[in-house]
Amino acid sequence: MLGLLTSTSSVKLAKFLEQEGCFTREQFKKIEQQAEREGRPVVAELLDQANGNTERILEVLAGYYQLESVVLRGRMISPYVLGLIPKDLAEAHNLVTFKKAGECVHVATTNPEDVEIINFIRRKTGLQAQVYITTPADIAYALQRYESKLAEEFGKIIEESLKETLASHETEEKLAQFVPVVKMVNSIIDRALASRASDIHIEPGSEQIVIRFRIDGLLKKVVELPREVLPPILARIKLMANLKIDEHRLPQDGRFRYTFHDHEVALRVSIVPNLHGSKIVLRLLDTRQKKFNFRTLGLNKRDLAIIKRESLKPHGMLLVTGPTGSGKTTTLYALLSLLNRERVNICTVEDPIEYGLEGINQMQVNPGAGLTFANGLRSLLRQDPDIIMVGEIRDSETAEIAINSAMTGHLVLSSLHTNNAFLAPQRLVEMGLKPFMVASVVNLIIGQRLVRTICKHCTSPLSNLSKHLERYGESLSLESAVVNLQKSGLLPADFSWSRVVLYHGRGCDRCSETGYQGRLGIYEFMEVDEVVSQAILKSNTTEGVKQAARQQGVLTMIEDGILKIINGQTTFEEVTRVTKE
Ligand SMILES: [Zn+2]
Repeated sequence: MLGLLTSTSSVKLAKFLEQEGCFTREQFKKIEQQAEREGRPVVAELLDQANGNTERILEVLAGYYQLESVVLRGRMISPYVLGLIPKDLAEAHNLVTFKKAGECVHVATTNPEDVEIINFIRRKTGLQAQVYITTPADIAYALQRYESKLAEEFGKIIEESLKETLASHETEEKLAQFVPVVKMVNSIIDRALASRASDIHIEPGSEQIVIRFRIDGLLKKVVELPREVLPPILARIKLMANLKIDEHRLPQDGRFRYTFHDHEVALRVSIVPNLHGSKIVLRLLDTRQKKFNFRTLGLNKRDLAIIKRESLKPHGMLLVTGPTGSGKTTTLYALLSLLNRERVNICTVEDPIEYGLEGINQMQVNPGAGLTFANGLRSLLRQDPDIIMVGEIRDSETAEIAINSAMTGHLVLSSLHTNNAFLAPQRLVEMGLKPFMVASVVNLIIGQRLVRTICKHCTSPLSNLSKHLERYGESLSLESAVVNLQKSGLLPADFSWSRVVLYHGRGCDRCSETGYQGRLGIYEFMEVDEVVSQAILKSNTTEGVKQAARQQGVLTMIEDGILKIINGQTTFEEVTRVTKE
């Protein structure tokens, strides 16, 4: 997906480009690393770094991949052809469809290595795909055409439906199902979703109604419509949200689901009467934006492999540890999403429920009403669950029910408030569990922290690397960290600090001069295998468990953090800040 090359094709391409006099191997290596850091195709990065030589490099790459090249800038692209694949897909895969001839659709891409997506387009459009190679600037040009296409269509639909709506003299109930009204409301919602709006405001004035979208926190006027269309729009939205159509004096709240392209969106509706009629606010909850998966969590290859292996086990216990605000809930939700299959019954007891998960039965702890983690868990067990998530194990009663459930064929997920993974077994024993239970039932313990990621808009190479190495060498045990990362195959055997470039954010408008934007987890994944479980049985000291785990190749979150520093995602300062006990 990221367009990372396999090592053989990477070597081949590097050699080809060198022979053609485009890039030296060293330049190629740097560009490849940059592409990997930014999660974009190597070809796109090569073209962006062509330094005025773009045309020639494009031809050389076209030759290498045996594809034709194409220039899209300035070209008319039919909205129909462009719309053969949705914009978000086009954007995510660095490609656009730009021409259709007979049974063949022409696709331009900056990622010719992504064969899968080409097959996907063939299936989706039912057409043969002819692939061309192009530059990132050309893709950006075509992506912009999507916007104008949407605006154009929105205007057309509104105008047409408006005429028909105003001409009809139906009752409110009938209007709510009148096709032009349905079209108009749908196109308002579609337009809002396409422009990543979080809210739609439909506000009546004395002569007009104004429709505004909130995008990135700011309200923006989208269209003004004649006042007469307010009653039909209002009736339509009330019908969708199952509200009383003939209620005009009292505020009403509701919600409904809406299908946009291939996914569902939840809409929360608020209708409040005011001077000129009812004001409608729709809050859009795009469930896609909150997809929990391990790709977006930023797990390293080793940890991803562990998750894959562990998710196949039908019973036992998975624990996530860390202080408050270390991202435990997100990890638990990602685990649940991974395990959420049609044939399993997943129940949770949480405090609070931070996010509603489709297809999962979530229960909110309510101590005031006598609903604690322990008795919530007890009642869940009568619901025939396969997988149970207990938000947090805080007391011995909860610990005991949780571990008993795990012993009787359930998979139990939970979190513990300990500083790292190695401390967890001891903590469970302190809560009254027997070491043999912990050793035999717990499958995996994850320790984690969140580090801020370097701002993409002002990232720049660190000039005084040696000073940093000196400063953090000891406190972060850089030397042994590199050895351990090499042992687990996460760093190449010939890794050397002298050959890496580290990054930091200089500070800019977009990151409020902090140099950081967004966050990322650093993790330690301890599988309780034979060796670790023996250590729990024999000594169950944190040191003993840690030693056994380290012997099995478990990396600490500091080491994972160092890997993420080397990958240009975060800094020594951040890893130090969050791992200081
Ligand atoms: Zn910045």
